[in-house]
Amino acid sequence: MPDSEKKRHLSGVFFALISANQTSILWYSYSSDVIKKHSKMKLLLKRKFKGETYTIGDLYIDGVFFCNTLEDTVRLLPLLCPDTPQGIGCRCKEKVYARTAIPCGTYKITMAHSPRFKRVLPYLHDVPHFLGILIHSGTTNADSAGCILVGKNTIKGKVTESRATSDRLNAILSKEKDITIEIV
Ligand SMILES: [Zn+2]
Repeated sequence: MPDSEKKRHLSGVFFALISANQTSILWYSYSSDVIKKHSKMKLLLKRKFKGETYTIGDLYIDGVFFCNTLEDTVRLLPLLCPDTPQGIGCRCKEKVYARTAIPCGTYKITMAHSPRFKRVLPYLHDVPHFLGILIHSGTTNADSAGCILVGKNTIKGKVTESRATSDRLNAILSKEKDITIEIV
């Protein structure tokens, strides 16, 4: 081993011993990046009003209330869809297109660019019977085809301040790598 390499090797061991003795502060500052990279963010959507034409819910981020949601009508759908896992539009008779909410369950979320909205939005993976499900802004259930609209439910059947809410959500989620949403 050349001298220069030996020195580097020794200093590495030295550092490890010191940090083991000095415990928390050094170790924390060293490992905080690692902790952040592996943290999981959990969104929870609690549907609280299931109407004939729309659904209102509350969205929580890591257990803290974040905003209201507006979705299409909840309908009973088969557990599995023969079409959407193959990237084909759902043809199940139980689903009314653009008037049906996505099934309850837990879905992985990544931030993805939407050609339709021309911006990066939270995208829900592997939703049975649905393709291209996003969390975005809008006012009424007519603005959604199964997607989750965010905002404040200050008017019956609608959400307001939706674009600002969607922007705030995107800013939070953009910093995370491991996101899921549970819909109940
Ligand atoms: Zn289907």
